[in-house]
Amino acid sequence: MAAALNTLTAAELSDKLASGDVSSVEVTQAHLDRIAAVDADVHAFLHLNENALDTAANVDAKRKAGEKLGPLAGVPIAIKDVLCTLGMPSTAGSRILEGWVPPYDATVVARLRAANLVLLGKTNMDEFAMGSSTEFSAYGATHNPWDLDRIPGGSGGGSAAAVAAFETPIALGSDTGGSIRQPAAVTGSVGVKPTYGGVSRYGAIALASSLDQVGPVSRTVLDAALVHDIIGGHDPRDSTSLTDKWPSFAEAARAGAQQESLKGLRIGVVKELDAPGFQAGVSQRFHETLTLLADAGAEIVEVGAPNFEYAVAAYYLILPAEASSNLAKFDSVRFGLRVNPVGGGTVEDVMAATREQGFGPEVKRRIILGTYALSAGYYDAYYGSAQKVRTLIQRDFSAAFSQADVLVSPAAPTTAFRLGEKLEDPLAMYLNDVTTIPANLAGIPGMSLPMGLAPEDGLPTGIQIMAPARADDRLYKLGATLERLLVDKWGHTLLSQAPALS
Ligand code: GLN
Repeated sequence: MAAALNTLTAAELSDKLASGDVSSVEVTQAHLDRIAAVDADVHAFLHLNENALDTAANVDAKRKAGEKLGPLAGVPIAIKDVLCTLGMPSTAGSRILEGWVPPYDATVVARLRAANLVLLGKTNMDEFAMGSSTEFSAYGATHNPWDLDRIPGGSGGGSAAAVAAFETPIALGSDTGGSIRQPAAVTGSVGVKPTYGGVSRYGAIALASSLDQVGPVSRTVLDAALVHDIIGGHDPRDSTSLTDKWPSFAEAARAGAQQESLKGLRIGVVKELDAPGFQAGVSQRFHETLTLLADAGAEIVEVGAPNFEYAVAAYYLILPAEASSNLAKFDSVRFGLRVNPVGGGTVEDVMAATREQGFGPEVKRRIILGTYALSAGYYDAYYGSAQKVRTLIQRDFSAAFSQADVLVSPAAPTTAFRLGEKLEDPLAMYLNDVTTIPANLAGIPGMSLPMGLAPEDGLPTGIQIMAPARADDRLYKLGATLERLLVDKWGHTLLSQAPALS
């Protein structure tokens, strides 16, 4: 029996669409059917695109008419709700933006539409991308398809769960401190945070502007690369967008999948990110993966990054500081919700009532933290010190990359924890990003790739690969090699082992 269309990768769908084996309408319908069957349990989507089938029919017509189409034309994709989509609500997981329909597309979304991809809908996330579990979404948590009682990671747990539950082959996420990579790790999918400035942030609702990056989520390295090729590259509408000419990441992934030996490649293991406090099964799979890489010819070197110890602390000053400023625009006048206090009141009363009702607890916590850290008299002690630590972390990376071509670590310290387990303890929640935050502080690219199931709980673990800024192609090349080595070893892909959702 032919594999169901919703289980194929984007690259496989692309081939079938190009050869005329299947139509985009059939492919899109298969994914909508899957969503209808499982999303009541998974809750990956906040909104479905009513025009998905029309778009698909339109792409089919273009293909029939002989128009030359790009590699992912007709392939469905899901979009994290932090990205502005013309004609579709964009809430960033917040009550304050409930029902808000942006008057424009984020650049990445416009590029997907121009490349004829079919937008399936918007995926769930922690409110304003603050969190590691989706439990801070104002619209209820997403459930991990491997175990519905567990978190799918966050903030982009909706995108990762949709991919892992075979509701979409590919999705977009955003990563400020790990929100693409940590959800990928705990759902057994692939997630990439590109080099800062490599993908446009125009139309991405800002959390912390100096850290945010949009990137792909998928089930294979090649699929992530195909998406990155479409969304990446200079955008004059984003003042931090790099003007570089980027190589084809899909070509890098294809070359990596073919590569027989890793001879000549120096892989650095970051000592500080191979910590004894990590879950035993995560460390075990990580060390087995290192052996596999060494057996393939790579040179494994240990590198030190002494200042990574302070990364989480610095991040939780810099992020709230930037977030408190970015979120000031939600003032009840320009966007979304407006709450009128009983008995009326001044403009400030309306603003306060709106923000009181519109923002959830984590957002309020960070706004308070950020305004405090930036206030006169405290600025140097908190924000200023955090920026200095950020520089030290960047220097640690420079030193490490003089000894190694890429760096690796576990992508998350544990497998998916239970829903509710860390909700009352903000610090415990923050520590889920201990491995991913350094890359954001330095602006370098990172990928999370499945590295097996933890023996103690049978849940996915992820390895993180990091490369110097602008060397995103190294992630795709090594990632594809490692992916092939692992499939050779296991005899199947990781996600094919996921329990079937009824
Ligand atoms: N979990 C991290 C946080 O809460 C990461 C967020 C993100 O990358 N958007 O800040």
